Amino acid sequence: MRIIRFRSGAEPAAYGAVVDESVHLLEGSVFDGPEVEARVAALDEVELLAPCQPSKLVCVGLNYRAHIAEMGSETPTQPLIFWKTPNTVVGPGAVVHRPSVAERFDFEGELAVVIGRKARGLTVEASGDYILGYTCANDVTVRDWQDDGQWTRAKSSDEFCPLGPEIVTDLTEPGNRRLQTRLNGEVRQTTATSDLLFDIGQLLEFITEWITLEPGDVVLTGTPGGVGPMATGDVVEVEIDGIGVLRNQIR
Ligand code: MG
Repeated sequence: MRIIRFRSGAEPAAYGAVVDESVHLLEGSVFDGPEVEARVAALDEVELLAPCQPSKLVCVGLNYRAHIAEMGSETPTQPLIFWKTPNTVVGPGAVVHRPSVAERFDFEGELAVVIGRKARGLTVEASGDYILGYTCANDVTVRDWQDDGQWTRAKSSDEFCPLGPEIVTDLTEPGNRRLQTRLNGEVRQTTATSDLLFDIGQLLEFITEWITLEPGDVVLTGTPGGVGPMATGDVVEVEIDGIGVLRNQIR
């Protein structure tokens, strides 16, 4: 299923399913076998919102070898975890504002895992049963603020986590998908998700050793090589095969 959150006219935000480029209302919880109801509109007639509303975003740094090399970092021996806070989440098409005092304001295209069931103490083998689906993310980062000693300011300023355009629940081989980031149409990052240092199952096992993931929570799996700065007016696109294109403009 292709799950979106959307707004149509004056109606309140709702979850929907995309069927043949039409939006259908979803009845019941998206985390508990929702029913696909009547057609609402064509996909290009609704305003897309971030496809989930996480209580937290657990993120992984330095998880692709090419990015570890470009940062001049040591290869981690266990996942390097940091947070993004819920105020960072914006949807496809949203404008992302660069904080005026930031020097280097970077994109990081990433595969995002959306949790479907309350999860604690997962094993690698069981982890797939707790995933609702997958979407695209841009882990927006102020590179110079990473020198703070920790990454709260660098990673969790308002609007620093575009998500979307949709959650694909039946994505086959999420661990072997092409991920690409484009800046104004120019390709800046290309990888296969099979190049992850710690794969999705290993990340979920590690994370749920120490914290409960709730339905709708998001795990950002890390960015490949090729990160770079964004300027006012730039359009950033994160595309993952089988999910779609997450497009945002910078101001
Ligand atoms: Mg990142």
